[in-house]
Amino acid sequence: MNEHCIFCKIVAGQIPSRKVHEDELVYAFHDIHPWAPVHFLIIPKLHIPSMAQVEPAHAGLLGHMTSLAPRLALQEGCRPYPEGGFRIVINTGAEGGQEVHHLHMHVMGGPRPWLKG
Ligand code: 5GP
Ligand code: ZN
Repeated sequence: MNEHCIFCKIVAGQIPSRKVHEDELVYAFHDIHPWAPVHFLIIPKLHIPSMAQVEPAHAGLLGHMTSLAPRLALQEGCRPYPEGGFRIVINTGAEGGQEVHHLHMHVMGGPRPWLKG
């Protein structure tokens, strides 16, 4: 845990969040400022600052996050593929639009129009 990281504090329960899913590796919760009718974040419990720090040893963790996303998207109300679907975004670094420096996967979906994108 990084004591200055808001997402580590969310994982630790020190900052409240609306939980979507939790297991030994990851925590998923609704974004506080949703861009789409469905918008949640999947984060590793391990503090990895961004995709730029991902190493081969993290492949299983990233695979877990990626395979979880479609299931959680349906659980949270995204319609099935191909009429429905969802968008996965991982902003990385300042020019990648990253604001919180704890790796997170945005999962967005639901009927359009969306606020952004
Ligand atoms: P980034 O721009 O880093 O890819 O996305 C960070 C996301 O985290 C933003 O969409 C923002 O709304 C969300 N966020 C920031 N702080 C909090 C918080 O305290 N709680 C929740 N639920 N979401 C947050
Ligand atoms: Zn963190």
